[in-house]
Amino acid sequence: MTHKRVYAFSEGDGHNKKLLGGKGANLCEMTQIGINVPPGFVITTEACLDYLKANALPAGLMAEVKKQIASMEKATGRSFGRGENPLLVSVRSGSALSMPGMMDTILNLGLNDETLDGLIRQTGDERFAYDAYRRFIQLFGKVALGIGDEHFDEHFEAVKQQAGVKVDLGLDAGHLKEISERFLEVVRRESGKDFPQDVFMQLRLAVEAVFRSWMGKRAVDYRREFHITPDMANGTAVNICAMVFGNMGDDCATGVGFTRNPGDGSKEMFGEYLTNAQGEDVVAGIRTPKPLQSMESEMPGLFTQLVALRDKLEDHYKEVQDYEFTIEKGTLYCLQTRNGKMNAAAMVKTSVDMFSEGLISKERAILRIDPELLEQLLHPRLDPDSPARPIAVGLPASPGASSGKCVFDADLAEKLGNAGEHVILVREETRPEDIHGFFAAEGILTSRGGKTSHAAVVARGMGKPCVAGAEGIVVDVSLRLAHAGDYVLREGDVITLDGGTGMVYLGAIPTIPPQFSDDLEELLRWADEIADLKVMANADTPEAAKKAREYGAVGIGLCRTERMFNASDRLPIVIDMILADNKAERVAALDRLLPIQRVDFVELFAVMSPHPVTVRLLDPPMHEFLPTEHDLLDQIRTLQLYRDVVRGRQAALAALPIKRDLPEALSELSEEFVNDALIKKERMLKKVRELKEVNPMLGHRGVRLGIAYPEIYAMQIQAILEALIECTKKGIEVHPEIMVPQVITTQELAHVRRTVDELSAKLEKEFGVKLNFKFGTMIETVRACTRATHLAADVEFFSFGTNDLTQAVFSFSREDAENKFLPMYNASGILRDNPFEVLDTEGVGQLIDMAVTRGRKQRPDLKIGICGEHGGHPASIRFCHQAGLDYVSCSGPRVPIARLAAASAKLQ
Ligand code: PEP
Ligand code: MG
Repeated sequence: MTHKRVYAFSEGDGHNKKLLGGKGANLCEMTQIGINVPPGFVITTEACLDYLKANALPAGLMAEVKKQIASMEKATGRSFGRGENPLLVSVRSGSALSMPGMMDTILNLGLNDETLDGLIRQTGDERFAYDAYRRFIQLFGKVALGIGDEHFDEHFEAVKQQAGVKVDLGLDAGHLKEISERFLEVVRRESGKDFPQDVFMQLRLAVEAVFRSWMGKRAVDYRREFHITPDMANGTAVNICAMVFGNMGDDCATGVGFTRNPGDGSKEMFGEYLTNAQGEDVVAGIRTPKPLQSMESEMPGLFTQLVALRDKLEDHYKEVQDYEFTIEKGTLYCLQTRNGKMNAAAMVKTSVDMFSEGLISKERAILRIDPELLEQLLHPRLDPDSPARPIAVGLPASPGASSGKCVFDADLAEKLGNAGEHVILVREETRPEDIHGFFAAEGILTSRGGKTSHAAVVARGMGKPCVAGAEGIVVDVSLRLAHAGDYVLREGDVITLDGGTGMVYLGAIPTIPPQFSDDLEELLRWADEIADLKVMANADTPEAAKKAREYGAVGIGLCRTERMFNASDRLPIVIDMILADNKAERVAALDRLLPIQRVDFVELFAVMSPHPVTVRLLDPPMHEFLPTEHDLLDQIRTLQLYRDVVRGRQAALAALPIKRDLPEALSELSEEFVNDALIKKERMLKKVRELKEVNPMLGHRGVRLGIAYPEIYAMQIQAILEALIECTKKGIEVHPEIMVPQVITTQELAHVRRTVDELSAKLEKEFGVKLNFKFGTMIETVRACTRATHLAADVEFFSFGTNDLTQAVFSFSREDAENKFLPMYNASGILRDNPFEVLDTEGVGQLIDMAVTRGRKQRPDLKIGICGEHGGHPASIRFCHQAGLDYVSCSGPRVPIARLAAASAKLQ
């Protein structure tokens, strides 16, 4: 700890924001590079921490402060607390990170009965002086003495009423004098003491109040909400600066500016000002400010100075600045500067422009943009000006916004979607067989499941908005309605989803379309040049692959083949395969699937050529392809009723004395037909019951399934290799990679490898070609991490499936955790992040590090990537870079974010 606790603006280290706060450091920096800042000094954040610890100002602090005030008096020719030409100061908070409006500020400190006279004589403006005095008494009373605004407001309103004026501007000097006197009385009454006339006492109390505001409820809540930890910002500095006035005449003004337009990033004077006004007038909206451009004609000399100020700020900070200025009697002062907050489009444009202007390097152009910000540019967003109120809230599972009619099942979604309607698929949770509904829907809403639930993962892959786990919504498919709090949503009612916030609205809310600009393309090209990590996409269809390429993916890191099984033309065949009683029946069904899978792969490989495509062999448990037990029982009951009707009809027909011609449809109904359907459903029910598992995610899935039914994996491997041959014959360069899921031991890999080797040898012989492909494993079980040395001996690549790995490491169900207990864990700080979203580097990360080290030790050229949802998350990407991975794979629409994050990770 340093012992010096007070730094003049002319001596403080402009880079030490931790010690001086952001505002203080910038005031020092600006002073030292020759920008006209009123004289002042900073009391350090360390002094704040000392104060909070001891509940008393550190010994000697006020002596240091007095010394600084003496220097300010010298520099300004004014005196503090005395005389003709009084020095007034502002006392402002400022921590290492900006926390707008969270801590306290006092202006015009130094006014008392004596200096008030001085101010009146100096300015010749009694009204101005009393206005400053009454503002100061109230602000000081509130911040330093804890007197509520209402005590002051009551008197202010009383005087206004007496004077018969409606707006504050109508009050004259006499009224304001009376208000000041009443305010002094309020202080006496409420605090039990006179308002301090000793200006050093004022200063002392103000400094203490600013220090205390660091632990005020507002500030503490803000830090919790925005995850501001003590290593990011600890304590507030206090900035004490000579007051300058923008309201001393027509050669005075006050204003705010941005060095570039924060709306679109264009390079122009941007901001507004008011002549003969104080900062409060701008904030209070009493007068309408003018655009800075007007200053060119109104105050041409000062406008030139303002342009020079703007250029100097950008030139020095190499960043767009958001600054405040005041003009006092023709002299321009800069009172504050900080990095400008802009929307994503403006950030991207200013990055590319500032590089072309030679102001910043490509590296800086990349690092200054938070990759997550790009989300704004990639999906439609709700118009932020829309006043709509949400009717339900769920997890923001896939970004973007869209409106459509509620539909409660995938078949109807498909039907209406194909007829050109905009629909939102609303389900309790989605299942693989709902996939056709996803294709047709504008968005997905579920009342169960988290960010790695089926609905979330599939929607993200398709770039469609999804709100998952909105537990306030209760879906009743049989009644075709859903309850959302007090609202009843009927099928056909229009709703809007915001997948970026998790909000659900009634009716159609206007959206803002995404903007993928040339500037963004350029920036991402630079990112690719810099990054070590390659960015691939998780994609299962040629359309998704095409989209992913447009987003800049250089391959597919995960093709989940089960998605292909769910398309409506294959699901019946897949069901036949599952219902098969013996191998021969199963093989017959698989023989029908083989050509379909081959075509799938040919299309996928062709779209991605010449980049690699990683195909994962079938992973989910079989029951996912069958209806639920509940649905089947429903269907069986309906069929039984139907059979009774058919029997009754036949009996009635037999009893008819005269047989007349009956409508064809009626006469076609046969009991046999219904019985056949019933038998099939009952078989299915039996199978569903056989396949039922208590924990299916930890049950008969992945490679365990592939070993139990080797002909399924054999069909998929054959389809992949035949697609490779077909593409090669067509002159398309392809690099397939076969990936095995859920592996725990090398013996499992050996099993699958044998099939791969046999089939490739056979096909190579048959077609007279050499087949080039890779064989690899997912690493998504804890055992796979611990046995990485052995697994690496059998494969050419590892791909971390961090969805399952996180589930396994935490022993949290990925389907339930996010809307059951995780929010509570996050809110109470037991877990800072949702581990299914932000990679848990401390736990899961340790296993990844271990598996990478062991795998590469065994096989130095082992290719390693990640394909869990974390592959698209910037902080997780940084970890992957540090862990030495070769690639990340994420849903297509997150590819641009991942590209930028991969470059940032390299540069950080
Ligand atoms: C994973 O577990 O991380 C993974 C990518 O596989 P899935 O989400 O399909 O289980
Ligand atoms: Mg998995």
